[in-house]
Amino acid sequence: MDMPTVAIVGRPNVGKSTLFNRLVGKKLALVDDRPGVTRDRREGDVNFGGLVFRIIDTAGLEEADPGSLIGRMRAQTEAAILEADVVLFVIDARAGILPADQPFADMVRRAGCPVILIANKAEGGAGMAGAYESFSLGLGDPIPFSAEHGEGIGELHDALIENLPKRDDDEEYDDDPQNRSLKVAIVGRPNAGKSTLINRMLGEDRLLVGPEAGITRDSISLDWEWRGRRIKLHDTAGMRRKARIDDKLEKLAVSDGLRAVRFAEVVVVLLDATIPFEKQDLTIVDLIESEGRSLVIGLNKWDLVADQNGLLKKLREDCTRLLPQVRGVAVVPLSGLAGEGIDKLMQAVINAEETWSTRVSTSRINDWLSEALQRNPPPAVSGRRIKIRYATQVKSRPPHFALFGNQLDGLPKSYTRYLVNGLREAFTLPGTPIRLSLRTSK
Ligand code: GDP
Ligand code: GDP
Repeated sequence: MDMPTVAIVGRPNVGKSTLFNRLVGKKLALVDDRPGVTRDRREGDVNFGGLVFRIIDTAGLEEADPGSLIGRMRAQTEAAILEADVVLFVIDARAGILPADQPFADMVRRAGCPVILIANKAEGGAGMAGAYESFSLGLGDPIPFSAEHGEGIGELHDALIENLPKRDDDEEYDDDPQNRSLKVAIVGRPNAGKSTLINRMLGEDRLLVGPEAGITRDSISLDWEWRGRRIKLHDTAGMRRKARIDDKLEKLAVSDGLRAVRFAEVVVVLLDATIPFEKQDLTIVDLIESEGRSLVIGLNKWDLVADQNGLLKKLREDCTRLLPQVRGVAVVPLSGLAGEGIDKLMQAVINAEETWSTRVSTSRINDWLSEALQRNPPPAVSGRRIKIRYATQVKSRPPHFALFGNQLDGLPKSYTRYLVNGLREAFTLPGTPIRLSLRTSK
């Protein structure tokens, strides 16, 4: 689970940056009396009295060209709302509700995520009329607040506790990867060598005899350590043993594949290198892609391969051709039986998880975007130019980007593929599923 995200939203000059500075605790954002100062989007990590979250300030982006100002501001606000678990909607209580507040309030209401309404500039009881007026926005009770003087901070803290998503302790989420178990599943056709590999990883026969020092097991996973990294391995073999007993092997094998993929952060697709790619292998990769997991391909029984260089070259080409949706996926030869190549496999697994978790800053994405649009502009659809204005990464694990603009529904598949390939290349995202959402603004 990612760190929860909070977005500060509102029209220019209500005090968003001042609030951002107060929460982040550093004078990061530039504050200026004049509306329209050029600022870029800011993000910061916040520890607010034990509440840990990422915060996005949507102030700024007011450009020299006032014509494009509202559009870009709106696109940026929409992007931030899309990412947010909670929105802090800020109004200027002294100014009251202005027409300029409405479009931002509409966006927040449409998004349907929790909103905390902040009536700012209300220090010393000022602007109470404006605070009352803000009820009319339909965003709930306002908190009379002063970003400049720190009034209302306690109420804001309470409101955040109420609205931020609760951490699921079972997830064992920890921001430090060293403290967190990486969930790995090994899937593949029967006889690819999954059990042999898992046994080899954990130490011979332990899988079959159950709990031992250093290994605890529950119904679906086995705790393991590789070079100091904690790993939870999906217990494929355990499922199979149960299946044999119940004599429902076929049925269980299918649902177990899905269960294994859903369990895992990284899925190892284990192939028997002596048998060519089959449709079943492609199906499982499709499943991993559609479930949004990262993956590595293991070429097992490498000890049986005579022409190792030739076969590796051929299988890597096969992967490029047959698996374009995970272009650049790591392909690692190994032998579970001989215990060879396991370190390389595990290193690839760790790398895949890192790639899958990548976060790219909005400014880098937009630098890339303007170049990509220049090199290959989007086509016109029924005479009308498709306009792409802005892009941002809305989530990771897997990397998920959103494009904002006009007529995006008309973008041909080939063009979105061009963009996805470009993102993959520009931000070094080999082998991971990549999501791209299109957001057309009205
Ligand atoms: P933004 O455009 O929404 O990011 O607004 P800023 O944070 O740049 O603030 C706009 C103006 O309002 C600046 O002059 C701030 O000093 C002022 N301001 C911000 N918060 C408060 C507050 O709590 N009380 C008062 N009186 N002024 C504030
Ligand atoms: P699973 O059905 O995927 O769990 O496959 P198993 O682990 O049960 O292995 C199937 C067969 O392949 C067994 O006879 C294993 O001994 C053999 N096998 C597994 N890994 C290797 C390997 O790396 N090299 C060779 N030569 N045989 C292997």
